[in-house]
Amino acid sequence: MKRVVFLLLLLVLFFSSCRVIEPVGKTEFVLGTVCTISVYDNTKKASQAIDEVFAALKELEKKLSANDESSMISRINKYAYSRDVSADEETAFILKKAMEYAEKSGGAFDPAIGAIVKLWNIGTEDARVPSENEIEKLLLSADYQNINIRETSIRLLNPDTRIDLGAIAKGYASDIARDILKKNGITRAIIDLGGNIYAMGKRPTGEEWRIGIQDPRGDKGIYIGIVHVSDMAVVTSGDYERFFTVNGKRYHHIIDPTSGYPAENGLLSVSVISKSGIDADALSTTLFVLGADKGKDFIKKYAKDAEAVFITTDRRIITTDGLKDILDITTTNYQLGK
Ligand code: FAD
Ligand code: MG
Repeated sequence: MKRVVFLLLLLVLFFSSCRVIEPVGKTEFVLGTVCTISVYDNTKKASQAIDEVFAALKELEKKLSANDESSMISRINKYAYSRDVSADEETAFILKKAMEYAEKSGGAFDPAIGAIVKLWNIGTEDARVPSENEIEKLLLSADYQNINIRETSIRLLNPDTRIDLGAIAKGYASDIARDILKKNGITRAIIDLGGNIYAMGKRPTGEEWRIGIQDPRGDKGIYIGIVHVSDMAVVTSGDYERFFTVNGKRYHHIIDPTSGYPAENGLLSVSVISKSGIDADALSTTLFVLGADKGKDFIKKYAKDAEAVFITTDRRIITTDGLKDILDITTTNYQLGK
């Protein structure tokens, strides 16, 4: 009898340790994309914390959207050529970070790209290939040196310059989401802002999160590999989410500010892994424009704590050294390259 009770006890222990914690999650369309927050802690506060996150994301969208006439960014774009416009601390912080990346990358990353982005309208029904003339007229405006920022006061030095924070704002938003969850006692969560991911803490099993790196030429959910991370942002910039095709040519949404055309530096995508969401987002766009060789140099010089995986048009996968320990490559469609 004792033996039976002991066996039963073992079985109960076994099954309770296998119990899968169902996440508390919510998905909404915000920041121009589908955002999902999934919390894996066993806490009553999860739903309330998630609601708080979405409220903050909506506030951020109101401030930062280049498409909303009443946003802070639109106000700057409308008035800051003729007079100083005073921004709120948060907008100024993100813009200053964007300016840092612009300076370090020699303008490969450029928050003054707004007028050119609007010209292409990629990701909307009105996407089109602009004429060379149209691009030429606005190209000089797309230079971060036309943005002057002191404290929170902003001035634009070219009448056509338009600020666009689309390459950095979701990363900042993921940091804010993480901080709100943390403040509410959440320790395990996946924050997914349209593929801009923050993996908080560890899985309920105690193992690291497994985040798939999308095959840029595969169906959605087909990965080239899996990164194992905790408390890390995993952010990808690629040519496969927002693009349109004319006469067999693909035009995507990441613009080379020197030409005004979609960047063509031999890359299909770049994924960046970093503790900071805002840096991972800014970096992924910067590296995509720079290409793999200059991109690796940029990481070595300016972002030693970050790791990157570059997927090239000639079907190679190039990684920074530190990534080798945390990335399992599962594809046979690409060669490991240098
Ligand atoms: P990333 O590589 O991170 O960024 C690419 C985006 O950055 C481009 O879309 C462009 O906006 C900008 N960019 C292009 N080239 C450069 C460059 N060289 N340097 C710096 N920036 C560059 N999308 C909609 O379709 N409708 C909306 O109403 C809408 N509202 C949004 C509101 C907010 C607050 C934010 C943050 C985004 C919104 N978006 C909207 C999405 C946005 O337009 C971008 O498509 C998106 O942010 C791109 O993110 P990504 O991670 O795909 O690419
Ligand atoms: Mg980015």
